[in-house]
Amino acid sequence: MMIKKLLIANRGEIAVRIIQAAHKLGISSVLACSEADTESMAAHMANELIVIGSARADQSYLNGDAILHAAQQTGADAIHPGYGFLAENPEFASAVTEQGLIFVGPPADVIAMMGDKACAKNVALRAGVPLVPGSAGEVENLSHALQEASRIGYPLLIKASAGGGGRGIRLVHSADDLAREFPIVKAEAKAAFAYDGIYLERFINNARHIEVQILGDGEQVIHLFERECSLQRRRQKIFEEAPAPALTPALRQALCQSAVALAQSVNYRSAGTVEYLLDSRSGEFFFIEMNTRIQVEHPVSEMITGIDIVDWMLRIAGGESLSLRQQDITINGVAIEMRINAEDPVRNFFPSPGTITQLQWPKAEDLRIESHLYPGYQVPPYYDSLLAKFVVQATHRQQVLQRAASLLRQVQIAGIKTTIPLHQALLACDFVIRGDFHTGSLEQWLQTMTVTEES
Ligand code: ADP
Ligand code: ADP
Ligand code: MG
Repeated sequence: MMIKKLLIANRGEIAVRIIQAAHKLGISSVLACSEADTESMAAHMANELIVIGSARADQSYLNGDAILHAAQQTGADAIHPGYGFLAENPEFASAVTEQGLIFVGPPADVIAMMGDKACAKNVALRAGVPLVPGSAGEVENLSHALQEASRIGYPLLIKASAGGGGRGIRLVHSADDLAREFPIVKAEAKAAFAYDGIYLERFINNARHIEVQILGDGEQVIHLFERECSLQRRRQKIFEEAPAPALTPALRQALCQSAVALAQSVNYRSAGTVEYLLDSRSGEFFFIEMNTRIQVEHPVSEMITGIDIVDWMLRIAGGESLSLRQQDITINGVAIEMRINAEDPVRNFFPSPGTITQLQWPKAEDLRIESHLYPGYQVPPYYDSLLAKFVVQATHRQQVLQRAASLLRQVQIAGIKTTIPLHQALLACDFVIRGDFHTGSLEQWLQTMTVTEES
C-alpha cells in the first residue's frame, strides 16, 4: 500500500466515511478542517487535526494553497477531496501531484475533460454515447445562443459548464426568456463556480435520472450497476435507490456498457459516475454529465454489490490494480437512501442549523447510517445541509419501503428540524410505492400536499 497518511480535505458525513475507510486499510488520517468544524465528529475521529482557515469555504475548504500547506506540515502523502469543494477542480488535482502527493481521484487532465460539463459531452459524443440534444459545446454570446436555441427547440435549459449540486441551471421557454436569463446564468456561474462558460440543452420532460457507478484503475473499467435518482427538489437528489426499478435487463446492460465505454475512452482511474436521463416510454437514454468523484449516494451501490467504493478509491490511488471482475459483480436485493437534511419540510425547506439536543438512531443489520451527528453537536449554518444518509436494504423493493418507514419512525432527533417527515410522507406515497416517477414528480407532489410534523 503506497498511501501511509491521508489528508481529508472535506467535512460532514463524507469526511467520517473516508476516515473510516482509511483506518480499515491501516492508513493514518489527518483532517484538514475550518474553524467551524474543530468539534465535528470527523475531527474527533481523525488521528490528526489541522485547521486550514475560517468558517467561510473560500478561506478553508476551497483554499487549495492552505490545504497543500497542511499536507506538507503534517507529512501526509495523499489527499482525498470528498465531494463538492475542490473535488472536481483540475488545477487543485494537478497542484497536489506537482507537490509529489497522491490525489485520490482521477488524473487532473481527466477531471478537466470530464468535470467540465460541455467538454464532457464532446468526449461522450466521440465515445458513441447518446447525448441530450444541445449546443455544440459552449455558446459564446447571446446571438450564438439564440441561433443554437432555434435549432435545439424550446423549452431548453441554460447550463453552466462548471455547475454542480443542481445549481447553474435555468429552464427557458422562448427566445425572450433566453435573452433575459442568459446574462443572469452567466453572472451566477461566474460568482458560484468562478467560470462563466455556459451551454444549452433540450429540456427532457418526465425523464428519469439514472446514473451508473464505475470504477477504473487506468487500464480496466468496471461498473457497479445503476442508481435511480429521480426524486429531486431543485434538481438536487433527495431519495435514491439501486437498482433502478424502471430498467429491463437489456436496458440495464446497454446503459452500464455505455458508461464503461465512456470511462474506458479516457482511461478512467478511480471511482466515477456517469449520469443519464432516461425516457421511460421510449427506453432512450441520454448522457448528461460525469462526476469524477465519490458521490453522496454511493452507499446504495455498495449495499447491493457488497463492494466498498471508498476502499477501492484509496487502493487504486495507492497503485493497486482492480482485482474485481465484472462477471463476479451481481445485484443482491435492493437498497434505498434517504437524505436527512437540516431543513424544515413543513416551512418550505427553510434551513435549520442549531444544536442537536437529542439523538437516537435505530440499530439493525439492514440499516446503514452515514452521519456526522452526535448529541450536543452544533450544526453550523455555513455549509451543505446534509445531516445523515439513512440507507436500508432488503430483498425486494416493497419490503425495503416498509422497512424504511418502520426504521425511520424509531429515529429521535431533537433541537433542529429535519427532512424526516418528508421521507415518511414519500414512503407512503403512491408513485414512490409503484416506482413510477420522474425528475419532476417530487416537486409536483409537493405542490399538491403539505408535509406535516406527524407524517
Ligand atoms: P451527488 O451527485 O453526489 O448527489 P451533489 O450534486 O448533491 O452530489 O453534490 C454534493 C455536494 O457537492 C453538494 O454539497 C454540492 O453543493 C456540492 N457540489 C457538487 N458539484 C459542485 C460544483 N461544481 N461546485 C461546487 N459545489 C459542488
Ligand atoms: P448537476 O451538475 O447540478 O448535478 P446535472 O446536469 O446533473 O447537474 O442536472 C441536475 C438535474 O437537473 C438532473 O438530475 C435533472 O433532474 C435535471 N436536468 C439536467 N439536464 C436536464 C435536461 N436536459 N432535461 C431535463 N432535466 C434535466
Ligand atoms: Mg448531476
